[in-house]
Amino acid sequence: PRPVIALVGRPNVGKSTLFNQMTRTRDALVADFSGLTRDRKYGEGRYEGHRFIVIDTGGLSGDDAGLDAEMARQSLQAVDEADQVLFLVDGRAGLTAGDHLIAEQLRRHGKPAHLVVNKTDGQDPEMAAAEFYELGYESVFLIAASHNRGVRSMLESLFPDM
Ligand code: GDP
Ligand code: MG
Repeated sequence: PRPVIALVGRPNVGKSTLFNQMTRTRDALVADFSGLTRDRKYGEGRYEGHRFIVIDTGGLSGDDAGLDAEMARQSLQAVDEADQVLFLVDGRAGLTAGDHLIAEQLRRHGKPAHLVVNKTDGQDPEMAAAEFYELGYESVFLIAASHNRGVRSMLESLFPDM
């Protein structure tokens, strides 16, 4: 069976943009409006001839009210389905309370997760990522999804035998 990778993180951190890069489609809705992708969305990714499934989600907000709760439910379902989880954060916005809440939910869930610091373009990637290390992740990738930067080397690390 193909490995399944779930993309989670607050709205607007760049999940759909990364989904598009990983699947090379424009299927996932990318928008400046928070939380537009409300359902889980599945795509097929290929890397060096190997195939995997990517799940885009509407975003975990750490908030339990209304629509947010539905989006959170969808995201947690995606985490359930996944072999690996990519937890995206916004290297421009910096570390937020919502990021901490998501990190806590993922920890409780216990699925292997990697931290992905996105939007590192236009700044020193290491500087942008520095404050996120307190989330305690051993596996951290620095990318700029909209520039397709760091995505290949991230896939290389996720699929080391490929
Ligand atoms: P989602 O809500 O997590 O799915 O986020 P989107 O993929 O819809 O992206 C939200 C916004 O961030 C859009 O305006 C994207 O163009 C922008 N964005 C995504 N990735 C990057 C990046 O690497 N760098 C910058 N500067 N902007 C990005
Ligand atoms: Mg989206």
